[in-house]
Amino acid sequence: MTGDELIRVENLKKYFPVRTGVLASLMRREAQMIKAIDGVSFSIPRGEIFGIVGESGSGKTTTGRAILRLEEPTSGSVTFEGTDIVKLDKGEMKKLRREMQLIFQDPFESLNPKMTIYEAVVEPLEIHGIGKSDEERRGLVSAALEEVQLIPPEDFLFRYPHELSGGQRQRVAIARALILRPKFIVADEPVSMLDVSIRTEVLNLMLDLQEKLGLTYLFITHDLAIARYMSSSVGVMYLGRIIEFGEVSDVLDDPDHPYTQALMAAVPVPDAEKKRGDLPIRGETPQPINLPQGCRFNPRCPYAFDRCFKEDPMLFMVEPGHGAACFLYEEFHSGRLERGRLPKD
Ligand code: SF4
Repeated sequence: MTGDELIRVENLKKYFPVRTGVLASLMRREAQMIKAIDGVSFSIPRGEIFGIVGESGSGKTTTGRAILRLEEPTSGSVTFEGTDIVKLDKGEMKKLRREMQLIFQDPFESLNPKMTIYEAVVEPLEIHGIGKSDEERRGLVSAALEEVQLIPPEDFLFRYPHELSGGQRQRVAIARALILRPKFIVADEPVSMLDVSIRTEVLNLMLDLQEKLGLTYLFITHDLAIARYMSSSVGVMYLGRIIEFGEVSDVLDDPDHPYTQALMAAVPVPDAEKKRGDLPIRGETPQPINLPQGCRFNPRCPYAFDRCFKEDPMLFMVEPGHGAACFLYEEFHSGRLERGRLPKD
């Protein structure tokens, strides 16, 4: 782990057994598995925002939950400030949970409809035994609400989630996540359930808090424009793997992997004159229970060649800090593929 890394994820996997009937399971020797995440690796420097982008079903949410051990990883490591948290027991993990919090897509998931806003935000303090008196805890809750711009806090403390707007509810969820002063936040599509008109406000609030409190975010989104707005670097997920990563400008402005190129080509551009090139992407995403042999993108890839159907590509560093899991770059750099045959040529 290098000096300024807060978190390093290495070869993280999460497989779910498939439920089948008794007869089917007797006839099959090995249990079938859904490979929701299948060897994810990345690191995030302290104080940075790493975005994970990908379509629904790519494994983004499971990655965030496995990192926080809300889903137990099948294998791999998650090193947080030098400690592999996958190896911690329940008690040790509870202590560390103060440092690592999740902001959900739907604030209703994290807010109990029967609890007032005060009860929801004070709960983490009570769980972790923070604050010597009710008065001190009330002060901390009021300060947390002010921090997320729910002002004056007295107007919100004794209301219920259904009495607030979607944006206000997400601000409460952020206050609840931040009241323990964590170092690391997994934000899983935090604005996708909100009205388009208030998304930017909530994103800006998250950026302000990140800077003010020196937070490190793993920011999960399916929206490439939001990933660009929020992140300094990104990883693109496809069928449980990161297939391209690097600085936002390298990955989203100049993508190397055929899948990232197809994703970018599908983003509407306001100026019809500047229409992006049409990149054919064939068929549907295969099921994670039935991954294709070789490169998992091969059934849809317009550039697939023999090797892609036999071997599984690992991330190849196309340039410093920018990797793509595609054999074309390896073939090109070793002189087996001539210039002009790369997808972006
Ligand atoms: Fe396409 Fe082959 Fe590259 Fe996979 S490894 S993305 S199939 S060219």
